[in-house]
Formats: sequence, C-alpha cells, structure tokens
Amino acid sequence: MNAANVDQAELAKFSSLAHRWWDIDGEFAPLHQINPLRLDWIDGIRPLEGTRVLDVGCGGGILADAMARKGAEVLGIDLADKSLRVAQLHALESQTPRVAYRHVAAEALAEEMPGQFDAVTCMEMLEHVPDPASIVQACATLAKPGGWVFFSTINRSPKSFLMAIVGAEYALNLVPRGTHEYARLIRPSELAQFCRAAGLDLEHSRGLTYNPLSRRYRLSADTGVNYMIAARKAER
Ligand code: SAH
Repeated sequence: MNAANVDQAELAKFSSLAHRWWDIDGEFAPLHQINPLRLDWIDGIRPLEGTRVLDVGCGGGILADAMARKGAEVLGIDLADKSLRVAQLHALESQTPRVAYRHVAAEALAEEMPGQFDAVTCMEMLEHVPDPASIVQACATLAKPGGWVFFSTINRSPKSFLMAIVGAEYALNLVPRGTHEYARLIRPSELAQFCRAAGLDLEHSRGLTYNPLSRRYRLSADTGVNYMIAARKAER
C-alpha cells in the first residue's frame, strides 16, 4: 500500500473551501452542474438501485448523496476531515438515506474491503494525487468481480490548458485559480493504461463539454477537456 499517496497542499485547497460544498453558485458550482449528467450516465450503465457503491474522494458528497437518493447504499471516502463533516451534516439535514462517510485512504480500504462494491466512482480526484495509478488499482481491488469502476478527470492537452485552466480559472472564474495544475492532468490513453494494469476493461467514455455562451455542460463525444470513463472488472 502506498500510504503517502496524498498531496497535503491539494487537500488544504479543498478543506479551506469545505463550507462551500453545497453552495450551488459557489466555487463548486461546476460540480453541481455536471452532477445530474454524470449521475444519469452512471445509472444508465450500472443501475444504482439496490447496489453497494463506494465514492472515492467524495468531498462534500455531491455525487455520493445523489447516488444514495437513486437507491444505492453509498460509502463516501476522502482524506479531508472538514469535507467529510460537511458531507455528513448535509446527509443529516436533508435526511439522505443509506449514505455514510469515512476518513480512509482508498489503498487502505482496498486492504480492508476488497471485492465488496458493485460500483466504485472516483470523480475529479485523480488529477489531485501524486500517484493516480495506485488509486485506480485500489478502486479495481474494491470492486466486485464483474463490478464497475467510473472515473472522471481532465485531459492534458493544449485545448484543456486553454479551456480548463485559462478559461475556467482565469477568464470565466468558474473555479478558483490554482485548482488544477497542468502537469497533473491525465490523458485518456494514460487513464486507459492505468485501468488495464489494474485488470479493468474500458467499456465506455464520454466527454463533458462546457458551452461558455449557454453556461451549460453537456455530454459529448469530445474527451479533449473534461471526460469520464466506465471500466469493468473481469468476472472471476
Ligand atoms: N468527487 C467529488 C469531489 C471532487 S474534488 C465530486 O466530484 O463531486 C476532489 C476531492 O478529492 C476533494 O474532496 C479532495 O479532498 C479529495 N482528495 C484529494 N486527494 C485525495 C486523496 N489522496 N485521497 C482521497 N481524497 C482525496
């Protein structure tokens, strides 16, 4: 296990904004905007009702909460205490059923609960850790044989530099400056390789495209900036 697979400066960035997780017009507005899109995409591939799901790097629980409301039993994990407290409080206040949160590293949980989840989601998180391949491996270990693993992240390309960093952080102020570091962004081919190395078969991919005029995200075939992938763990 890689116990040190965390960048404290990255955690601090999210912790300092933890009180803002559920402000739909705040710093996390893009996550609130993409949430119904990613939720429906996941639910269309692996219907969530009645499943056991793990959300890795859950933050304030935007996706975890929504998956629980779709009928899944959800565990959200993160390494930022403040965010976990916000997630828990939100679940209490809005009486979300079947959702729990824990402070534990993906790699540690993989040793504790291997093969226990029908689906594992890990969204907008891989680009914030020193060793994303280790997280992908842990997610694969945590999934049941035949289970699904979903990732979303940002491509590393001239276009993503322009859109996700210059555009989103500087021109449009969609997210705080310094949210994403270019060198940490992950190409789809790299993520696919991490998946193959972890015994996951890539089944689907989808772009999440932002239109600055309508100020809306939509699913698209363009994985040039934000994208998601769905991979499946081999049956035993
Ligand atoms: N997945 C959520 C939040 C994305 S923001 C969503 O899409 O709505 C990125 C999250 O990753 C933050 O909550 C941050 O605390 C978390 N994170 C960063 N490094 C981590 C690590 N090594 N282990 C677990 N979580 C981590």
